[in-house]
Amino acid sequence: MTMPKWASAALACPRCGGALSGLAAKQTTVTRCEDCGPYPVLAGVPVLVPEPARWCATFYDAALSALAEADLASRVAVQTLKAFADAAPGAEASRFSDDWTAWEAAGAAPPELHEGPGADALAELLKIAALQAPSLWLEHRTPDGVVLELGCGAGATSARLNTKRRSLMVGDVSLRAVLAASHRSGAVPVVMDAQALPLRARAFDAIVAENVVDLLEDAEGFFTSAKLALKPGGALLLASPAPSLGSPDEDDGVLARLASSAGFEVDESADGLPWLRRNSGRFVEVWLVQVLALRHSRAKRR
Ligand SMILES: [Zn+2]
Repeated sequence: MTMPKWASAALACPRCGGALSGLAAKQTTVTRCEDCGPYPVLAGVPVLVPEPARWCATFYDAALSALAEADLASRVAVQTLKAFADAAPGAEASRFSDDWTAWEAAGAAPPELHEGPGADALAELLKIAALQAPSLWLEHRTPDGVVLELGCGAGATSARLNTKRRSLMVGDVSLRAVLAASHRSGAVPVVMDAQALPLRARAFDAIVAENVVDLLEDAEGFFTSAKLALKPGGALLLASPAPSLGSPDEDDGVLARLASSAGFEVDESADGLPWLRRNSGRFVEVWLVQVLALRHSRAKRR
């Protein structure tokens, strides 16, 4: 994989925001920030997290199996992963917390509901709910241009977002997720941390983050990072099943207030949109989700 020019021009060092060299080179294994040092590029996917050696050590086995699953575990990719991992001894191994069903990964139709008195009524409700999905709400409000989808999962939304009028990048801390989403949608895959986005200032027209912000330890860091990366007037499109962000009084206004204190204006919002997870023919989950279309305000009003 060689990275397209628009994508290498839109990426930056996750620690200092400085330029990265070597990203656009063919079959590169390393990209470098002059001040902060090297970052690995595994089978064409740059790993642009603040502590790349720790990421490689923590997710060593997980990254190996993600590469193997995608048929990308070349000798040079494995060597690069190992070289970085060796620089962070003692890191505790962890899996990627990928959260998708087998049929979602395959891009297949969901399983049929188990026959019985519940099935017909439920099928009718699920049909209505699918039309109101938060992912559709976000997609309809995503502008053309350079777009990042953060927390891409297996790429169900990426496939619809990647139109001719958009240059789409998919970002996730999971190598397995960005490989799956890229395979499905043709988007450019980058491993990244949502709290330290490796994005060049003012390079993006939109950032879409579905069910991501409530999982972060530092949601404020995410908003600051996203504001820097967006062009003035750019869009930040969010969906969250937990917009109170764990506040003790379950105040669902927390997410929107955090966004506005980071300098975003709420263009449009909605709540109670059904996010369906059809795990099997017998098990269906429904989350009622809040969605926000935010705009990078050109000047801070006081
Ligand atoms: Zn740097």
